[in-house]
Amino acid sequence: MIDTFDVLNPATEDVVKTVHMASAAEIDEVVAKAKAAWPAWRDTAPAHKANVLRKFALLVEQNGEELAQLEVLEAGHTIGTARWEVENVRNVLNYFAGGAERLIGQQIPVPGGIDITFHEPFGVVGIIVPWNYPMPIAAWGFAPALAAGNTVVLKPAEVTPLTAMRLAEIALEAGLPENVLNVVPGFGKVAGQQLVEHPDVQKIVFTGSTPVGKGIMRAGADRLKRVTLELGGKSPTIIFADADVEAAAKSAPLAVFDNSGQDCCARSRILVQESIYDEVLAHIETTVKGVRVGDPSSENTDMGPLISAVQRDRVKSFVPDGAPILFQGEAPTGKGFWFPPTVLAPIKPGDLQYEQEIFGPVCVVVPFKDEAHAISLANGTDYGLAGSIWTRDVGRALRMARGVDSGALSINSHSAVRYWTPFGGFKMSGVGRELGPNAIEAFTETKNVFISTES
Ligand code: NAD
Repeated sequence: MIDTFDVLNPATEDVVKTVHMASAAEIDEVVAKAKAAWPAWRDTAPAHKANVLRKFALLVEQNGEELAQLEVLEAGHTIGTARWEVENVRNVLNYFAGGAERLIGQQIPVPGGIDITFHEPFGVVGIIVPWNYPMPIAAWGFAPALAAGNTVVLKPAEVTPLTAMRLAEIALEAGLPENVLNVVPGFGKVAGQQLVEHPDVQKIVFTGSTPVGKGIMRAGADRLKRVTLELGGKSPTIIFADADVEAAAKSAPLAVFDNSGQDCCARSRILVQESIYDEVLAHIETTVKGVRVGDPSSENTDMGPLISAVQRDRVKSFVPDGAPILFQGEAPTGKGFWFPPTVLAPIKPGDLQYEQEIFGPVCVVVPFKDEAHAISLANGTDYGLAGSIWTRDVGRALRMARGVDSGALSINSHSAVRYWTPFGGFKMSGVGRELGPNAIEAFTETKNVFISTES
């Protein structure tokens, strides 16, 4: 059986490192260690847990440039994106560190006694991470899981294990006890599957594709395993004629092409009110032609390569010969997994490019008539993760925000993920929420205790 994986630099196809892939038996060993480490970590004083996580955050910052460069090498992210990722990991650790000290229950009035609730950690939590934002997505799971008093076994994506492995080393330097945060590279169908089916793993946090997420829910069902699933998306930008049309239209393509479109929140369907369709297309063309695609380590690059040859071929399959390419930017030729920013139109509901997550720098532009039409188009896929609504009419903005079935919407901007606000999907985009003030509770069971005062 193959038990190593060559991590490639997506910009050059050079091998960055050959990494050992864990077998199912090795996963069992790590889970056993994490289980043994749990009681001591659970019983560690809240302030001590918080201080270790804050030290972890500080060391992430101090090792930030090394982590960012490693992310550029293994994921092909632009250096700007990679630095944002490091900052996000630091912030997420600091934010959830305080959660250890604020895991507060309730006192509920009852006759004949006192009723109180506790948030009890699960034990061992399994975290399965994709390759598109390897560092932040790992931290969105492990920071609240650890703060709540769980131990963690984290499986990074096959193609991007290096930053997660380095984060585990930094955690030890920060004083996190051995076996509390375990990072184990492995193949999804071997190591990932074993983690999902393991009886001593109480909860799985999975971020990745919807088909694999469904499989994880099924595989965990026998043990009623708790799951948080962050899955795919096909999010819209919706531009009304009463919006700041120039700002909306110029920024819309960047909300698709950031991270080469490999973003679960990519607004890959640009819905435009009919009366401004031509005006919007003109702005989109200007932006697309201006996207600088190339060496991700250069400070001047806007967009790097795709993660792998497999992903590039998948993206290409959505733009076959004869596809209605309206605009296309430039991309390097030669080595590396490159694909140019691409805008498709006309495309209609029912077309593959309209309904399926492409996870590459390809978007569609579709006209709509009015609010009702815009809502029906926006909600016309299986997904419901993110979306942007552009209008100057406050009432319309709120009606649209209530009408679009998505977990993370922004009005007159494209922002989606802040570590202190909840994030997750409707419909086939997921189950549960990460980040924000309540995320830590998703790493606990609520226990209710009644104390009689009458005996
Ligand atoms: P993927 O589903 O192929 O893999 C994700 C992870 O699951 C990897 O670590 C993989 O090894 C593992 N895995 C694969 N098969 C498994 C199995 N049978 N059992 C257990 N683990 C298994 O996804 P990907 O290609 O790495 O990532 C891209 C997808 O992730 C996109 O669909 C994207 O939208 C989604 N995503 C969602 C969010 C979100 O927050 N909603 C964020 C980022 C990415």
